Amino acid sequence: MIKYNCFYCNKDWALHDLMIEISELNVSTLYLNKDQTHRGRCIVSFNRHVTELYQLSKEELHSFMEDIAHTSQILNEVFHPDKINYAIYGDIVSHLHVHIVPKSRKSSEWGDAFINSPDNKHYLNEENYTKIINIIRKRLN
Ligand SMILES: [Zn+2]
Repeated sequence: MIKYNCFYCNKDWALHDLMIEISELNVSTLYLNKDQTHRGRCIVSFNRHVTELYQLSKEELHSFMEDIAHTSQILNEVFHPDKINYAIYGDIVSHLHVHIVPKSRKSSEWGDAFINSPDNKHYLNEENYTKIINIIRKRLN
């Protein structure tokens, strides 16, 4: 197996610094972003090291989109955002992953792109991360 210098592949401290694993999905893994500036913000990471959507087979692409849609539906039910934003960047960490960001009209970023890494991150305590993760896990089953 090829070893990439990639925290989504290595699942090392750099990943655990930013996010907490919620669950394996069909072709991806769902993480809760530790920065909860936007409540319910998650990441869906494809389970193989590819960097672009066009590198997926038709079936993989379909399953990946289903994972994203299913996740966003759950986030909508749990957090009742006014809109969900989806972002694929990867300039620095190129492994294919999608930011799923529930947005509120009251947010200062409403009507604009969310700030990926804000200066003042909104961290929760372990108990509240666990609470959110358990609510999402329950709906995944
Ligand atoms: Zn990777």
